[in-house]
Amino acid sequence: MSAIPLVSSALKNSPHLDGQSTRPSRVAVVGAGIGGLTVASALLRHGIACEIFEQAQRLGEVGAGIQVSPNAARLLHRLGIAKRLEQVAVRPGATEMRRWDDNRLLARTTLGNGCARRYGAPYYTFHRADLHRVLLELLPSDSIYLGQQCVEVTELDGEVILRFANGRSWRGDVVIGADGIRSAVRSSLVRDKPTFSGQMIYRGIIPAERIKHFADRINVRLWLGPKQHCVCYPIASGRLYSFGATIQHGEAIAESWTAPGRIEDLAVAYQGWNEEVQRLIGALDGVNLWALHDRDPIAHWSSQYVTLVGDAAHPMLPFMAQGANQAIEDAFALAKCMSDTTLSISDCLTRYQNVRAPRTAEVQRISRENSSTFHLSDGDARKNRDRAISVNQKLNNQEWLFGYDAELAVTT
Ligand SMILES: Cc1cc2nc3c(=O)[nH]c(=O)nc-3n(C[C@H](O)[C@H](O)[C@H](O)COP(=O)(O)OP(=O)(O)OC[C@H]3O[C@@H](n4cnc5c(N)ncnc54)[C@H](O)[C@@H]3O)c2cc1C
Repeated sequence: MSAIPLVSSALKNSPHLDGQSTRPSRVAVVGAGIGGLTVASALLRHGIACEIFEQAQRLGEVGAGIQVSPNAARLLHRLGIAKRLEQVAVRPGATEMRRWDDNRLLARTTLGNGCARRYGAPYYTFHRADLHRVLLELLPSDSIYLGQQCVEVTELDGEVILRFANGRSWRGDVVIGADGIRSAVRSSLVRDKPTFSGQMIYRGIIPAERIKHFADRINVRLWLGPKQHCVCYPIASGRLYSFGATIQHGEAIAESWTAPGRIEDLAVAYQGWNEEVQRLIGALDGVNLWALHDRDPIAHWSSQYVTLVGDAAHPMLPFMAQGANQAIEDAFALAKCMSDTTLSISDCLTRYQNVRAPRTAEVQRISRENSSTFHLSDGDARKNRDRAISVNQKLNNQEWLFGYDAELAVTT
């Protein structure tokens, strides 16, 4: 097995190769998704360079939208990319929850400038590829190694070894697993498996000019109905709309988690839903179908020299639109901890995990809970839910989520 010649220019220029600092000099990030790229940039901001190992041969993100709330947007702005983000984002005016049949408004969270003022950053919606590209621009291109599927992590006294499917290996001080819900790094720390939620989601993109009746509204809209819900919002500076629609699916999907979906099947599943939803489905050219998985929350995801961020640490159902937001919070919290030269690296990783785990567990829990509360049939429980969300969804009740500062949380 040969070692990868891994002295990137980022590493050569690192101020931490002088042997004086207690900061680690060789850090690997496994996975170049939103979590991996953000943690690498957040570390670089503190002068800590990393090498990033990605299994894919090409970098990119799936063709779908992503909502980024102020708790994460505020942190991303600290990387100096507010202008770049604004060029590709949409700032929605509100999030609205509506009834499936008659399109009646159930709850509204006013966003726009009021949200940006209150929480110090806007609520954004992006095409995933745009957000990924802006994050990528922050990193030296020779710090990312493609086609490197990590298959084994071995922790020895004083170092960590990564082994890759192509027979190569890497040795260093710290490994950060940002390798998603099926994380290989996680499996070196925890023995558990993803849980299938019994739900799948169709996702597709609609050009704005095709849905002019809808395109003048820059809101995130969710329609809640019996056993399923769907969501639509503008992305890519308003040129496109992202559409997602859940369905119940009895079979546990193990191997293939994504597949091309059939619009005809989606249309059948959403028969009888309001006219606006029908028109959105009618405007789609194609959809993908994803099986939705999560895992139970865990309190410990760090060892002496290995830790996890994002879906590798706390994969959640997408029903709070918080998975990537929590990955971004993780990234900044971990970088802040690792920049503390008074702590050993093992203590940095423990502090990071101990602060993050309760918050991410709560977000995982609510995301799971929403998979039943969003899908109630008419009856008393549904009426109670409608009353509750009309209050809970107000902007001033989002303080715990949007007002949280992940960097501050690890320093206090
Ligand atoms: C339908 C849906 C809608 C969502 N909407 C939102 C939203 O609006 N807002 C939000 O905040 N979140 C949302 N999420 C959640 C969000 O997509 C994830 O939480 C987020 O992408 C996790 O980022 P990550 O970097 O941790 O993992 P991933 O995005 O999964 O990235 C992991 C990376 O690691 C690589 N990798 C995997 N294994 C290995 C290996 N062994 N070796 C090397 N590389 C490896 C992968 O190729 C990938 O590039 C949604 C999720 C779904 C399913």
